[in-house]
Amino acid sequence: MSDTIKHGSAGLHLDGAAVEVGAREAIVVHDKSTGEVIGHAAQATLEDVDRAIGSARAAQAIWADTPGPQKASVLRKAAALLEAQRESFVEFLVRESGSTKANAEGEFNASVIEFYSAAELALAPNAEVVPSGQRGRVNLVERRPVGVLGLITAWNAPLHIAARVLAPALGLGNAVVLKPAPQTPLVGGLMLAPLLDEAGAPAGLVQVLPGDAAGPALVDHSGVDMVHFTGSERTGMRINIAAAQKMKRVALELGGNNATVVLADADLDLAARLGAQASFHHQGQVCIATSRHVVAREVADEYTRLLAEHARSRTVGNPAESDVDMGPLVSASEVERALGMVRATVDAGARVVEGGTAEGAFMRPTVVADVRPGMALHDEETFAPIAPVIVVDSEEEALEVVNSTRFALSAAVFSRDLDRAWRFADRVRAGMVHVNDMSALHETQVPFGGIGASGTGDRLGGRANIDLLTERRWLSLQRSAT
Ligand code: NAD
Repeated sequence: MSDTIKHGSAGLHLDGAAVEVGAREAIVVHDKSTGEVIGHAAQATLEDVDRAIGSARAAQAIWADTPGPQKASVLRKAAALLEAQRESFVEFLVRESGSTKANAEGEFNASVIEFYSAAELALAPNAEVVPSGQRGRVNLVERRPVGVLGLITAWNAPLHIAARVLAPALGLGNAVVLKPAPQTPLVGGLMLAPLLDEAGAPAGLVQVLPGDAAGPALVDHSGVDMVHFTGSERTGMRINIAAAQKMKRVALELGGNNATVVLADADLDLAARLGAQASFHHQGQVCIATSRHVVAREVADEYTRLLAEHARSRTVGNPAESDVDMGPLVSASEVERALGMVRATVDAGARVVEGGTAEGAFMRPTVVADVRPGMALHDEETFAPIAPVIVVDSEEEALEVVNSTRFALSAAVFSRDLDRAWRFADRVRAGMVHVNDMSALHETQVPFGGIGASGTGDRLGGRANIDLLTERRWLSLQRSAT
């Protein structure tokens, strides 16, 4: 056990310092494979929330006034400090969130890049000149920080889900009060915040408040200018309603029910390999996972057979102990929920081709055939390693099935005919569509996000972060009084 794990017990991160759990209620953090206690966090109180927002506002004023090159240097230093702690962050991603080592390395690398990219944002042009109809007037459209951001995150990629918003928010002059998921408060926030302090951010610029009270309080508090939320559709809807009552800006990154479409002329080996990866990677607990395989009847049997072969070949176990393909789900109750969806779908006429079994939090990758719209595995997000196969008789029917969900996050289409695939992709309703590739793609510099029940349509990543995390202000200057 590393030192970090032994001592990974700061309760919250307030005003630029780690605060012990003390008299607050403790959140016990478990290793998701073994159940072992690996640390504690504190349930932040409403007084903590008030105090954090007060000092975040003060720190934000200082930070907004800090020259861009200086902000960039703090962010580059934070990136370097993070990089230097690779081993303990990867260890925590494996143990606290159940990642395989490869997935943890990927998440860690993406998180480091977010801080280097944020340094670039601090140096990017922050105003444009727009021609005026009035002689002598100069119109500047400035990009100004939003102010204090309330950041509420999910557990499935805890470090990157925090870093992808926190880093650019800082780069663009904001302060962040982060409320991490209760399953992953350490690697999802408490381990990250001290690095910003050490890098030279003003005390209070980044604070971490775990616990159930902090989320709703951040949405409600008049000192929070914007809420960024990653999580479920249900919570997102509640936050959207609460934020509307405060006329507060809100960005929501929610769930998906993403399709991989296999047209009759697809390269089946490629489609099945990437389709399996998109369904089983990180135990299917990825918002852009493929949770529906929509397959042309001519190739459905062969595709299902290949998919089942991929599922069968995967090893499942404790990723801290051996080099497995898949780790645990976040909890045994999540496995029960997923198996319940499989049972309901089978009761409605589908059949399990592979998997469908579990031991504790470890679930075998599962392939279910004869799935149709109206069945649980078709209609709802699964967030588990399940690949339901839906057979269609035409491209039109495939499109109808793909677009029949209220979610619209990601999709993939496979065909050897690029023109055909592109035409199909054009008609898919989703924030991201991939031709001959996985639905579960992510690149830090490419705008990411969904519409419909998948989110507010905001985009994260690259220059889209400027739209997401700044306000525009028109500043006009009259050169002469005549
Ligand atoms: P969740 O909605 O249960 O919880 C998310 C966060 O919201 C947690 O920190 C939780 O404590 C907090 N929360 C709960 N109730 C709240 C309230 N009333 N007010 C404020 N905060 C509240 O989601 P989860 O189970 O942690 O995450 C899984 C979901 O997240 C899946 O649906 C997945 O698809 C989605 N997700 C989306 C993306 C994306 O980028 N679109 C990325 C990762 C996960």
